[in-house]
Amino acid sequence: MISVLRMSFSVLVTVLVIITNVEAQEMKKAPIDTIFAQGEKNPYGEYFTGQTYLTMLSNKGDEWNSSIGNVTFEPNAKTNWHKHSGGQILLVLAGEGRYQERGKEVRILHPGDVVRIPLDVEHWHGAAPDSWFTHISIETNLPNNQTTWLEPVEM
Ligand code: MN
Repeated sequence: MISVLRMSFSVLVTVLVIITNVEAQEMKKAPIDTIFAQGEKNPYGEYFTGQTYLTMLSNKGDEWNSSIGNVTFEPNAKTNWHKHSGGQILLVLAGEGRYQERGKEVRILHPGDVVRIPLDVEHWHGAAPDSWFTHISIETNLPNNQTTWLEPVEM
């Protein structure tokens, strides 16, 4: 009888641990209209600070040879410094964001802004400290557009 109780208890603990982990992995819903689906946690998260979410709208290698993603940033989340050998265009959809090229002033981003990032220019993009932020990211000059990830932004 005691061993049955012990087993039941360990099953209960296991179930609770699983439930807790599932809840921890759940997506935090952005309190802004991200227009497109917010998507899953960004699989490139190791190159970002803070939590971001990614929905691919068009994948590299498909008929259109274009890569378009929708990225949502929690407040203060941002990319590391990085550069794209084929450049990148950002279309701002929601919230308030930030963009900076190495050695230049930080630019404040609002919905409707377009950011044209030249080839091989080091930069970062992300959310304002107190705002969620969503932009579409277009990889240009495919198929030879390589992204080089650098150090985290210090600010
Ligand atoms: Mn970029």
